[in-house]
Amino acid sequence: MLDFRKYMKTIKQLHEDLKNGSLTVEALVDESKKTIGDKDKDIHALLGMYSEDLINSQIEKAKGMFADGTATVLTGIPVVIKDNILVKGELATAASKILENYHATYDATVIKRLKEAGAILIARANMDEFAMGGSTENSAYGTTKNPHNINRVPGGSSGGSAAVIAYGGVPVSLGTDTGGSIRQPASFCGVVGLKTTYGDNSRYGVMAMGSSLDQVGPFGKTVEDVEEVYKIITGNDPLDATSLPLEKRKHDGIFNKKIGVPISFINREGVDSEVLKNFNESLEKLKKVGYEVKDISINQLEKTLSVYYIIMFAEVSSNLARYDGIRYGLSHPGETSIRSYFESRTAGFGPEVRRRILLGTYVLSSGYYDAYYNKANIARELLKKEFEKVFEEVDIIATPTAPTTAFAIGEKSQDPMSMYLADIFTVPVNIVGVPAISIPSGKDTSDLPFGIQFIASHGREDRLFTVGKDFEKLY
Ligand code: GLN
Repeated sequence: MLDFRKYMKTIKQLHEDLKNGSLTVEALVDESKKTIGDKDKDIHALLGMYSEDLINSQIEKAKGMFADGTATVLTGIPVVIKDNILVKGELATAASKILENYHATYDATVIKRLKEAGAILIARANMDEFAMGGSTENSAYGTTKNPHNINRVPGGSSGGSAAVIAYGGVPVSLGTDTGGSIRQPASFCGVVGLKTTYGDNSRYGVMAMGSSLDQVGPFGKTVEDVEEVYKIITGNDPLDATSLPLEKRKHDGIFNKKIGVPISFINREGVDSEVLKNFNESLEKLKKVGYEVKDISINQLEKTLSVYYIIMFAEVSSNLARYDGIRYGLSHPGETSIRSYFESRTAGFGPEVRRRILLGTYVLSSGYYDAYYNKANIARELLKKEFEKVFEEVDIIATPTAPTTAFAIGEKSQDPMSMYLADIFTVPVNIVGVPAISIPSGKDTSDLPFGIQFIASHGREDRLFTVGKDFEKLY
């Protein structure tokens, strides 16, 4: 069996094999299906395969592209997609009962770009319902297991997209990241995950959770693989009003290898001592290959979890109002329209989604709007300014990706506060809108992966790829 992890075949290597004919698109897709068939029974990274019609038509297209010389590096490569991204004609449930039978009526822009590049969309990834969570335990269709230890969570909310890479089902996948949902599962599953600059990837056709925070991004085994997918899905999109225009993507290309570390923010209660030790070892390794590491302080970081859990709740409550039991999916008709609305939403949404809608409605209600929502927005602006200042001094900020390695299934699911704390290092990135990447950095004494997070300023994914490729060689 072709184990993508074991053979460490990158998509560039697979591309070479496909181009020189030592591998066919059909064989690659078959191997991917076989690995999934073999492993997914235990891991449950996937909610289902895309239709044979879709897969076969993409195979034909990919073969045509190789034949006429228009193949891209993604042509013929099997890809898994998080189930909150729309693929025309296919189920897209966001792992919610309320969308159990919902079929997308159009392609998300990122999907359109993958299809144009000749990629083979193969399966839908499990996730926390509507991307709310950090473990996939909030999926209405069962928890995904961590391929490194099936008693542990894979992280979340894009847990399925990370786990399928870790077990070798496909070389690359897509997830979404609102507060860490690509980076934290990447860290827990020992793979690479990229959250791009806000506005870099179109959100058109991606089910909204927190519209000012959400970004689509790739997972892969290597930084290079993730970079290749990034190059294909990114770009301006007139269908997304927050998409960055081309002129905003220009930069000077300079990289002085200066890393800032908010030391006092990282050395805190709740951060596992093994995580800290690993992080410090990683910094030492980086110093040996020419990186300069300096202490930085960002005062507002202490407030970011509170800021996130106000802004995100507010946006969730407004974004999810559209699931009313009338226009989409599950419908429980009641005696009046308002009863239908209540009953469909109560039957369709899980407890975490309901909790967030209620809290979001509260922080937006008159009398509390100024006290919570407006204050959070002010703190957000202050944090952005502090980041801008820090990026005048350093090129990159580094933190552990998560305060712990993968926790046990069930360990935090009854305690939302401790689950929310798991996002402490990832949420500031979404609040500020900058790009960040998580890269594997070895394993703990229980053989579970660690991840390191590198953060760059707006539009400087190039720096993440450079430091990421240097870092990969150190472990
Ligand atoms: N774990 C975070 C949350 O529960 C992040 C989710 C995400 O990025 N989609 O909100």
